[in-house]
Amino acid sequence: MKRKKIVAGNWKMNMNLDESSKLISDLKEISIKNVDVKIAPSFTNLYHSNSMLTSSKIEVIAQDMHFEKNGAYTGEVSAKMLLGIGINTSIIGHSERRKYFNESNQILSKKVTSAIQHSMQVIFCVGEELSERENNNYFEVIKTQLKEGVFHVDSDQFKNIIIAYEPVWAIGTGMTANSQQIQEMHKFIRDLVQNYFGDEISQNIKILYGGSVKPNSAKEIFSLDDVDGGLIGGASLNFSDFNSIVEAANE
Ligand code: PEP
Repeated sequence: MKRKKIVAGNWKMNMNLDESSKLISDLKEISIKNVDVKIAPSFTNLYHSNSMLTSSKIEVIAQDMHFEKNGAYTGEVSAKMLLGIGINTSIIGHSERRKYFNESNQILSKKVTSAIQHSMQVIFCVGEELSERENNNYFEVIKTQLKEGVFHVDSDQFKNIIIAYEPVWAIGTGMTANSQQIQEMHKFIRDLVQNYFGDEISQNIKILYGGSVKPNSAKEIFSLDDVDGGLIGGASLNFSDFNSIVEAANE
């Protein structure tokens, strides 16, 4: 089944206003044929980035969001606030949020619920630690993250979910999972989606790979049957690298 690919750049806590404006000016020139391109700047750069890209095909998305609409949650940003500045998609459950900010599957499931209630699209990240891969229980870990974090939504809402498989040991380390490891996990995830939500949804769900995707590895990774694009960290900060990765997904 042919699914349109997605390439999403996660800028993390990088780029001040000047730097992000410069990168976005360059990104406006990239050729986008048949691929959805998204970038996730920091909260402080969302509004400005979005204004710069109004007539572009690139979508500006958030790196995270809180599950409440508003209230006494110092430092947090809600779905309603994001929608208010034209941001309709958020990454949820990035491994750095899980690890450094103690975000459990239970917290993440509340974030997913809030995003879905606000008709937002979600890129929901899952991934195992190195020790979990070495102990051979990585399928169980991914299954639990999906069951507890995102499988609670209704079938018609699940259409707004994109899954990103990001083995934690491959994020920012320069170590990429190999093609066989990637394809078997993506197939496992698609089969699970089929068990929970049926054939049609499982054939349409987009499953991205993330973990040190670089220009020289993108083409092979994107050619795998159950890979529908990538979530790109480090390489999304460099115009030429990101451009090459988008090009590898352009069909
Ligand atoms: C990420 O943080 O989602 C990621 C995949 O990072 P990197 O590409 O740098 O490994």
